[in-house]
Amino acid sequence: MSSRSIGYGICPRCGNRGVLIIKELSGGYYAYYRHGKVWHYIGPLSIFYDQLINSLYNEYRESLRKLATRISATRGNTTADRQIINALVDGLTHVRRGILWLMILSALFYVIALAIVISRITPITGAVEVVNAVISLVLTYVFLLGGFNILSGIDYARYGMGLSGTYLRFVGISLVMVVDVMYALSIVAPTVVVPLTVIAGVTIVVSWALIYTAILRSTKYIDLSRAIRIGMVLALMGYSLDLVPGLNEFGPLLQIIGEALIVMDLGIAIARLKRES
Ligand SMILES: [Zn+2]
Repeated sequence: MSSRSIGYGICPRCGNRGVLIIKELSGGYYAYYRHGKVWHYIGPLSIFYDQLINSLYNEYRESLRKLATRISATRGNTTADRQIINALVDGLTHVRRGILWLMILSALFYVIALAIVISRITPITGAVEVVNAVISLVLTYVFLLGGFNILSGIDYARYGMGLSGTYLRFVGISLVMVVDVMYALSIVAPTVVVPLTVIAGVTIVVSWALIYTAILRSTKYIDLSRAIRIGMVLALMGYSLDLVPGLNEFGPLLQIIGEALIVMDLGIAIARLKRES
């Protein structure tokens, strides 16, 4: 194992001045900031390269550029880099599939809800909502939780927020389910159902905001276009409109368009990442 000190900069972890050290460990290069006896691990050099360049004081940037050029000239992508890229592809693919299936579920549920309103067979509404919530829970568990577990394994600071969002979504959807069941069995009065539904709805909106923020944090690794940001804003507006009486017919439409943009752009970014590995 060899290590080389590059120069002074501002540590991205703690914001204090420190010395950037690059260590070579079984074929991979890893960045640390050293503050006296305290070391802060930043991450693999190739992944955090841009961030590290920006963290350094101007006069030391050139020596990091030279080191990176020398490494890539002699080795190309190292095994360690490739493992990280593969994990990123795997994790983001899971998350993307989750959003895709949830989008399909919302579209299906929207059509069913319209059909129920038109045909006036309202008694089954509660049952349909519970089935929708159950499938939504399973999809969240299989895809979003699975994906963010992989991603936080690579970089917890960046993706931990996605895990929190996923857990919060479990809480929100479970609350929707409990309220629907209690209402269907006439355990609670409509006056109690309304505030509980609003609480569940707000929880779900916040959970998506956390999940989307975590996805946007991938821009350190991958290129995401403007389309995905527009998609996220539309989707979040859609989830929020669900809470506004009289406007909740429009919510799912915005949500579906937004999610479609997210799924599309994430797909393009993942394909580009695959080519790099
Ligand atoms: Zn630090």
